[in-house]
Amino acid sequence: MSMLSVIVPCYNEEENIAPFYEELVKHVSFLAERDMDLEVLYIDDGSRDHTVQEIRKLRETDERVHMVSFSRNFGKEAAMYAGLENAVGDYVVFMDADLQDPPSLLAEMFSYIDQGYDTVATRRVSRKGEPPIRSFFARRFYHLMKRISRTEIMDGARDYRLMTRQVVDAILSMKEYNRFTKGIFGWVGFETKWLEYENVERARGETKWSFWKLFVYSLDGIAAFSTVPLMLASVVGVLFCLIAFLMIIFIIVRKLIFGDPVSGWPSLVCIILMTSGVQFFCTGILGQYLAKTYMEVKNRPIYLVKEKLG
Ligand code: UDP
Ligand code: MG
Repeated sequence: MSMLSVIVPCYNEEENIAPFYEELVKHVSFLAERDMDLEVLYIDDGSRDHTVQEIRKLRETDERVHMVSFSRNFGKEAAMYAGLENAVGDYVVFMDADLQDPPSLLAEMFSYIDQGYDTVATRRVSRKGEPPIRSFFARRFYHLMKRISRTEIMDGARDYRLMTRQVVDAILSMKEYNRFTKGIFGWVGFETKWLEYENVERARGETKWSFWKLFVYSLDGIAAFSTVPLMLASVVGVLFCLIAFLMIIFIIVRKLIFGDPVSGWPSLVCIILMTSGVQFFCTGILGQYLAKTYMEVKNRPIYLVKEKLG
């Protein structure tokens, strides 16, 4: 008998655990027709509310419920990695605990696996219910990524994705510390079917992503999947040299024709300010990559387990 593992990362989702479970079991009856088992693997990402107790309650009535609980909040990326490491299924699907990923799509997803796809991914075609400013920056981010990264990162892609064991093993082989799963999915490749759906708003509770957190996350994504920013320093450097060269010629010619009028202090100050600004900016970019390299070299574990259930 083969098995489907549902990985659910949870961070302070006490009021969503039970409703999500009920909704999920309602939509997995098709698994019996396929002679497949189910495993629901909750990853508690260091929740500070009653998430763990809620999961324990489910476990008492259903042996198919499992849990890995972290020693603190390591972030959703770490939770997803832990899920993949601990899932035993032949097929694995990620789902958010807040019911933004409708379980009703599961049956359809499997129909594409039957057709020979290795992975079935989802993307939302609308962003309704989201603050407009957030949508705007999200769009900018995907637009930029398309230009500076060779890895395909789909606009509006969610982490709701069904994968075969082969894809799971491929992702597990990427043990990097700075994880950006949207990029990792694109990087590993494989035959991917995209399903589209309208944005569903979070059932209960609040989003765990503030605007600032998302912004930093997007910088992580850029650093993880593009080295184009590093080239920026060279490009700007060449450009400034060219400009300086033209100006030197201009000044020599002016000196020869008009003599030596002492002027140009304000413009000099502006130029010094601007070039030093650009230099700091480029050093900052260098620092970003160095910091990422530093964290990577330390080789710390991606997450730490406090408790396992099942
Ligand atoms: N999540 C997590 N760790 C975190 C933040 C979020 O495991 O540090 C989980 C969260 O419980 C939810 C999923 O990741 O199941 C998506 O989070 P959220 O709904 O807050 O994000 P959004 O849907 O607004 O992008
Ligand atoms: Mg959500």
